[in-house]
Amino acid sequence: MEASQPHSSSKTRYDYIITGAGCAGLSLLMRLMEDAFFKDKQILLIDASTKQINDRTWCFWENGAGLFESIVKHSWAKVQFASDHFSGLLDLGPYQYKMIEGLDFYQMVLNKAKLIDNIHFLQERVLKISDGGAAITVSTASGDFIADFVFNSIPAFASSKIIPGKKGQYHLLQHFKGWVIETEEPIFDPSIATLMDFQVDQSAGTTFMYVMPVSDKKALVEYTLFTETLLPEAAYGKALRDYISAKLKIKQYQVAHEEFGIIPMTNQSFSLQEGRLVQMGGAGGQIKGSSGYAFQFIQKRTAAIITGLKKGHTYFNHKNLKQIMGEFYDTVLLNVLVKRKMNGDQIFSQIFEKNPPISVLRFLDNESSFVEDLKIMKSVPTRIFFPAAIQELQR
Ligand SMILES: Cc1cc2nc3c(=O)[nH]c(=O)nc-3n(C[C@H](O)[C@H](O)[C@H](O)COP(=O)(O)OP(=O)(O)OC[C@H]3O[C@@H](n4cnc5c(N)ncnc54)[C@H](O)[C@@H]3O)c2cc1C
Repeated sequence: MEASQPHSSSKTRYDYIITGAGCAGLSLLMRLMEDAFFKDKQILLIDASTKQINDRTWCFWENGAGLFESIVKHSWAKVQFASDHFSGLLDLGPYQYKMIEGLDFYQMVLNKAKLIDNIHFLQERVLKISDGGAAITVSTASGDFIADFVFNSIPAFASSKIIPGKKGQYHLLQHFKGWVIETEEPIFDPSIATLMDFQVDQSAGTTFMYVMPVSDKKALVEYTLFTETLLPEAAYGKALRDYISAKLKIKQYQVAHEEFGIIPMTNQSFSLQEGRLVQMGGAGGQIKGSSGYAFQFIQKRTAAIITGLKKGHTYFNHKNLKQIMGEFYDTVLLNVLVKRKMNGDQIFSQIFEKNPPISVLRFLDNESSFVEDLKIMKSVPTRIFFPAAIQELQR
């Protein structure tokens, strides 16, 4: 990100300060820029990073065109699911599984913001955020910046911290290494992505491969695990090499890009707001505990903040019943996974085998109907899930 002088002096009061220019910060900024209601608001965006690196690829499903449609790199209407228990090609119906590259996302939003006078950038580390009641102050090495609200997605300033080992709280790590591989020969079918291929060693815990072909000669292949601890570094590359040669039957390829990520999967409840400090993204608990997907939850959260601001609200911490139910289902699934009552490959196989893919996607989005929820619950063994649900309800 190109740093620009944040307005005339460090004493300037902004309407909004956005701390963190990642997925959540830039999604909120994009929505503020798109809406004429905010054209006179003074907005300061602060991030320590230049945001010039393609540090992640976002995949998510969406019904129709979204706010970031113009930078969707590839999309798939059908996805493959594979395991030793069930394999099938899933038609996503009205949904498309979409891929966006991090750098395209950062550049699109920041380039648009550069053209708008009331948006100011500061490339600096945030040191402190202090809510003084009448205003909130963000401190960096170059000074203090005051605002009506701070919209934060910097994990260090989350109002809730993850406390491993706390009773009733489950913590898994979703960790993955992805390689974008290029082949000389046309090998991939770019119309079909592999959402989950569990036909890999499950001894460490829930483990699957993910294959996202963007052309017949190029695909992102990602090795993903939901476990308590990370693997030795060399294990990720070995698993990718083995899968590419044994399962994809590719002998000659180049690794054009590599990404590694760790996403917390937890049932911990996150505070959405304290005073003038409003939380978003991972800092606001928008990473789904049972799947690690966050992109679309961040879109919903930032859209809800915009709606609230336009209505003159000062509280942005509302959760609807479906969100609360979704968090409960996540807790039950994490209970089962963490206590190893059933393997993840079996759970996902039964859910995908016995339900229409559209219902499963809606369930994972916390948007399914009560009837769909019941059907999904019936598709997993009640002797395992019912006691886990009762245990969680009693907490
Ligand atoms: C490699 C990877 C791949 C992922 N893939 C997917 C996916 O396919 N689908 C999906 O739904 N989710 C995915 N996720 C999960 C989630 O969508 C991302 O983590 C997402 O970026 C979270 O958004 P965020 O805004 O909360 O955090 P971030 O995007 O990480 O933004 C936080 C920002 O805060 C800045 N920052 C940190 N500390 C400071 C400081 N002290 N001062 C100033 N700035 C600071 C950082 O530079 C960063 O720009 C992925 C995560 C990773 C790590």
